[in-house]
Amino acid sequence: MKYDHDVIVIGGGPAGATFARIAAGAGLDVIVVDKRKEIGVPVRCGEALGVTELIKEGLDIPKGCYSIPIDGARIIAPNGKAIVWKDQGTKGWVLERKTFDKWLCELAVDKGARINTYTRALEVLKDEKGKPNGLKVTHGGRDPFDITAPLIVSAEGMESLMARQMGFKTVHALYDIDTCYEYEMKPYVHENLIELYFGNAIAPRGYLWIFPKADRKANVGIGIGGLVSNDEKLGGLKGAQPKPLLDQFIKNNEQLKDASTLLDFGGVITVGAPINEFVKDNCMIIGTAAKQVDPIHGGGIGLAMEAGVMAAGVAIKAHEKKDYRKEVLFEYEKQWRTHPGPTMAKRLLLRKVMEKVSDDDMNYIFNIMTERDLPSIMGGNFAPVVAKMVAGRPQLLAILRGLVS
Ligand SMILES: Cc1cc2nc3c(=O)[nH]c(=O)nc-3n(C[C@H](O)[C@H](O)[C@H](O)COP(=O)(O)OP(=O)(O)OC[C@H]3O[C@@H](n4cnc5c(N)ncnc54)[C@H](O)[C@@H]3O)c2cc1C
Repeated sequence: MKYDHDVIVIGGGPAGATFARIAAGAGLDVIVVDKRKEIGVPVRCGEALGVTELIKEGLDIPKGCYSIPIDGARIIAPNGKAIVWKDQGTKGWVLERKTFDKWLCELAVDKGARINTYTRALEVLKDEKGKPNGLKVTHGGRDPFDITAPLIVSAEGMESLMARQMGFKTVHALYDIDTCYEYEMKPYVHENLIELYFGNAIAPRGYLWIFPKADRKANVGIGIGGLVSNDEKLGGLKGAQPKPLLDQFIKNNEQLKDASTLLDFGGVITVGAPINEFVKDNCMIIGTAAKQVDPIHGGGIGLAMEAGVMAAGVAIKAHEKKDYRKEVLFEYEKQWRTHPGPTMAKRLLLRKVMEKVSDDDMNYIFNIMTERDLPSIMGGNFAPVVAKMVAGRPQLLAILRGLVS
């Protein structure tokens, strides 16, 4: 069969744009279709991105694509006690995703990829053996037409409807998503620290964030467990919705209570395990579509880009061999499950254990914990911290033993 392109990528977010940049850079004919009229718009994100090795090595984020650089985090207990965590690993940016996502797409175009906005993938086309070989798409809702390629990459984000047609199990369980609401607000005077507030009364099974931006602005948002609204065991907030909880926090915050809102939006993000397979014959799935999101904070930009790099490297080899079977594409999945897969699995375990901790126990934990404990906790080395917690409050062992057994 003669194809129109070597690869079709569905979605021009960080995952799809990164994949397209690397694959097109190696000479592949790559087309990206995105249903949005404008790349990166509307923004549905807190816009925080940590410095990862990958980004440091590969890309230098230009001014204009980020609002401010970040030095670290202030983590706040239910009773208001704060721990400030600043080290090399906590540096990053609060982005301007409107320009950041577009910049990533422009880099892909510079390498030879073609990006088509306002172009929605409607249906996955399949050959006589049922293997994907193209898409039915529409530009602006008009006259659907077919485009073909031997490799289809789903970088569709949370919706992932085309991935489902390819046979990937992308349906979300309510327990494993956070429902979110966010405002961009001004004025908010701040240091270059992101602020994360924890507690069942503030953000049951989730957290509330203030991510500062330039010109005394801030993204002020909340994510709460998807089941919170009908599970009284989780915080007892029957009927809890993210927006009223966020409004309540803002009303009680000295700085924010009189601030203006410049933007408001809601969204959902997965905080569960990645899907069970990332490749099938002639197709791959990358980024948030594959649920490659940090279960602790719901961050997915860096992971999406990382998956884009890995998957593109393997796609290039498959293209050289003209062999797009699952066995060949599996190298990408193997790489991801080696790193960062195990770290994400530990973070998921931490999320599941922490959701059983009461506000009183959380206050106690924050009292004992220091800035020095945070790298081991986030790195998945729980034993020393658990030992410290349990020494002062043995009853916590019943909950925290899940982290060390
Ligand atoms: C409220 C909220 C706050 C967040 N805050 C942060 C944060 O501070 N830091 C962080 O790292 N992450 C954050 N995230 C998560 C982050 O936004 C995602 O993980 C990230 O955007 C994933 O990138 P992606 O490329 O995989 O998918 P996306 O960025 O979602 O891109 C998917 C693209 O696919 C397109 N698409 C989907 N279906 C089709 C179709 N059928 N046809 C054509 N195009 C299609 C969409 O239009 C979209 O442009 C947040 C999420 C939410 C909801």
